[in-house]
Amino acid sequence: MSDLTVFKPVTEATDASRTWAASVLADLPVVVKFCEAACPDKKTVQTSADAEGRHFRQAFHIGVKYGAHFAIHLYTGATRTDLAVAKQMITRLKNGIVCDRLWEEFNNGTGRYMNSWIPFDPEQWSPELRPCADPNCVRDWHEWETSGDIFKTESCENDAIRTDDYTIVLQRHDDDPWTVESWLTCDQLEGVDGLKALRDWANDFAYLQGECDRLNAIQVKEAA
Ligand SMILES: [Zn+2]
Repeated sequence: MSDLTVFKPVTEATDASRTWAASVLADLPVVVKFCEAACPDKKTVQTSADAEGRHFRQAFHIGVKYGAHFAIHLYTGATRTDLAVAKQMITRLKNGIVCDRLWEEFNNGTGRYMNSWIPFDPEQWSPELRPCADPNCVRDWHEWETSGDIFKTESCENDAIRTDDYTIVLQRHDDDPWTVESWLTCDQLEGVDGLKALRDWANDFAYLQGECDRLNAIQVKEAA
């Protein structure tokens, strides 16, 4: 708790900090990692409150290596809100709002590191983010409901085709086999255009169904 201090962060950029951020940080990509996989010391979200009843939370740390990238490391239990806060902090730094207390320099000034406690509202619930273990899923993580029953609120997704007329998704619910699901989104299927849309839909559906069968065959083989 000793590092849980409240201070007035820098809230505005100066001309110099704005220029520096624009040249050094603006184009750096942001990578999101889960500490479970990326950190030797697996960390869990910590919460605490001070004497005045203000709540704080440590749910991630962020490193930036100049010339490389920003890396957000989410701790076990981190939520969608935590990730949004982390991204906001990066945006502020990229805009030149450089708070040395929040973003400590490291490695002889070749980067910065931030792992401060962040104020939060304990009444506000947000879904937890957990890494996806399915190697055939294109998403790195999914949102989980954790306030009562614990379950994943999203499907795994492998491939999808989205046009103005339809959406076809190759997806998987929990441990079920992969399936292809589709939705027609056009208003009317009439005349030459309608026929073309239906033919395209049938072709795309057949393609994804083939991929689906292939994925399920791999899984059956692995389970055998
Ligand atoms: Zn997944």
